[in-house]
Amino acid sequence: MNTKVGQLTDSYGRPITDLRVSVTDRCQFRCFYCLPNGEPPLAKKDTILTFEEILRAARVFIGLGIEKIRLTGGEPMLRRDLDKLVEGLAALKADGLKDIALTTNGFSIREKAVRLKDAGLDRITISLDSLDAANFRDITGVDKLAEVLDAIEAAKEAGLEPVKINAVIVRGRNEYELADFARFARETGVSMRFIEFMPLDSGHEWSREMVVSGREVRDAISAEYPLELRNSERGSETAWKYRFADGAPGEIGIIAPVTEMFCGQCSRIRLTADGQIRTCLFSSAEHDLRAVLRSTDSDSDVAEYIRNVTLKKEARHHINDTDFVQPDRTMSFIGG
Ligand code: SAM
Ligand code: SF4
Repeated sequence: MNTKVGQLTDSYGRPITDLRVSVTDRCQFRCFYCLPNGEPPLAKKDTILTFEEILRAARVFIGLGIEKIRLTGGEPMLRRDLDKLVEGLAALKADGLKDIALTTNGFSIREKAVRLKDAGLDRITISLDSLDAANFRDITGVDKLAEVLDAIEAAKEAGLEPVKINAVIVRGRNEYELADFARFARETGVSMRFIEFMPLDSGHEWSREMVVSGREVRDAISAEYPLELRNSERGSETAWKYRFADGAPGEIGIIAPVTEMFCGQCSRIRLTADGQIRTCLFSSAEHDLRAVLRSTDSDSDVAEYIRNVTLKKEARHHINDTDFVQPDRTMSFIGG
């Protein structure tokens, strides 16, 4: 473990280096594993952090050793002038920020990819849960497969490579497309990442039977296209990464938080759109950084608050315990 002096660390000695910032709780998609039922209760507008507040928080976090920031949501591209926020973050690279990433459903990436890249965005992850137009519509509630494929192309053209693609694999919905996704990675050179379905859906439909395990994904793809593991040590990364044994372009990533828990080396902390710190995706409590940001001009008070909250980071999630309780807020609110 590479722990700097003054590094933000939790009570289990895990260095916290990765901040995920949700910039909005709104989304125009209705992915069944996230937001299936109409409009969720949204935060009041004046509770949503302004860009100035996000940048101030980011500066303090970076002073405490945060090296990577991922912008997410809801759909982050719905937040007007997101490139301005990216530009503000890029200026913080002088203070130690190393990496700025974005997770998006692809909305308006064709128009804005170059601007985001020029503003300082390093990496992009685009969600794509089906390569079949009808199934894409079934899963996401919108008829936009062609636009998302075009967004992936636009991100590549803008040089935001290697583009990562996230697919949540759910039994009975899209596991039959695994070989097609692998072929897509080989043909386009993207890093195709398969995520186990987690109990963070607003419909509370999640069940263990719906989870397609990372192992199943790996086996199904290897049967068609043999894979070689690239990272025998995963460190604080979430994904096992594989290359194609025949040397074809593209990469396969497997993210298995349910069946292969990786909490022991978690380096992540989250900030919701309304300024609440979540120390874990599955936290039952939130910590009101917004109130602190709005009540003091002292960055050292903000830093002190963040340090104390980080000490409350949970040891692990409890999805596999019999008394597991699903958090109230969904992935769209917490920020995936
Ligand atoms: N709207 C953007 C998008 O879809 O990429 C960013 C926010 S979304 C909440 C971030 C990621 O979380 C997406 O890749 C999505 O597939 C994933 N996600 C959402 N709900 C999930 C769940 N219940 N289990 C696993 N992954 C989930
Ligand atoms: Fe929206 Fe992303 Fe959730 Fe889908 S996964 S509903 S695109 S926030």
